[in-house]
Amino acid sequence: MRNSIYGLTIDKLTEWLLEHGQKKFRAEQVWDWLYKKRITEFADMKNINKECIQLLEEHYYIQSLEESIKQESEDGTIKFLFKMKDGNLIETVLMKFPYGYSVCVTTQVGCNIGCSFCASGLLKKSRDLSGGEIVEQIMKVQHHLDAKELEERVSHIVVMGIGEPFDNYANLMSFLRVVNDPKGLSIGARHITVSTSGLAHKIIEFADENLQVNLAVSLHAPNDELRTSIMKINKAFPIEKLMKSIDYYLETTNRRITFEYILLNDVNDHVEEARELARLLQNKRHLSFVNLIPYNPVDEHGQYSRSTPEAIKAFYETLKGKGINCVVRMEQGTDIDAACGQLRSKQIKKDETV
Ligand code: SAH
Ligand code: SF4
Repeated sequence: MRNSIYGLTIDKLTEWLLEHGQKKFRAEQVWDWLYKKRITEFADMKNINKECIQLLEEHYYIQSLEESIKQESEDGTIKFLFKMKDGNLIETVLMKFPYGYSVCVTTQVGCNIGCSFCASGLLKKSRDLSGGEIVEQIMKVQHHLDAKELEERVSHIVVMGIGEPFDNYANLMSFLRVVNDPKGLSIGARHITVSTSGLAHKIIEFADENLQVNLAVSLHAPNDELRTSIMKINKAFPIEKLMKSIDYYLETTNRRITFEYILLNDVNDHVEEARELARLLQNKRHLSFVNLIPYNPVDEHGQYSRSTPEAIKAFYETLKGKGINCVVRMEQGTDIDAACGQLRSKQIKKDETV
């Protein structure tokens, strides 16, 4: 069975080439073709001899994702729905910001965390994505930009698509190392953000990786009772345990951390919860940033709706008043179901009805 060439770090590729009787310098050449010139067939690697190309073709493939839908939003956001080799569907979103192009990647088919508001959690995880499949999402989007011949590059990555990245840890790490490598796409670690629902033991492991990658934690509530009612993962990793792992992360990395907080109408958006959140973050407020996210309604989760503009404003101002850094996150692509897992779940429903 062949594997994705995008799944190999340059060290792994070098090792593999040496084991197969090839010269060490070939690895850098192959990477140059893959990530700088961005060809999609091994046969196009012009300075590489036939024997080596044959060897690569026997063991690896370059492309495996098939574009099944591409939806473009009025604000320039593009959502790709890709079909994987096994027929599973995943989604990837390209967003344009004043500072560059950012891509949101998927890490799992479905998600087992099952948060009560999320479209991705509607479908149990059927499998993890391989490191190569995560990298290939970036490559597909980069190929899309290349086709416009404007020399545009994917400059930022958010790991906020379908799935819980820390539940697919090894493949996530391989992905981060490949896209960050200066010999390849060279996307700066500071331009990459990984979002987790709060797997405390993995936050500790991540802190010890000594990477400059940003971490975002989906908090969504300031106390255990409310958080457990929204996210059942809070039973396994209650707030105190989560905060301990975050303190460890802050001490170890000296980096700031982002908290995500979805505002659900009349559930977690009262001024009282804003005050409680400010108290919770008080001792780390210089290293914290809160993203307030207006909820993007999901058909199946009819119990939730978006907070009113007045509630959003009052929540924001209460946090600010207590010295907490925060923003209300600008929305992108709501007209094309750009929130986590929404396009995929709609497409699957459609397929079931035909
Ligand atoms: N599993 C990870 C990363 C993927 S979800 C996590 O939960 O952090 C990325 C972000 O999108 C999370 O903060 C999640 O809470 C948020 N999200 C999920 N569904 C949403 C919706 N319908 N509207 C707004 N944000 C949503
Ligand atoms: Fe999974 Fe994140 Fe959705 Fe929760 S919010 S179900 S962790 S993808």
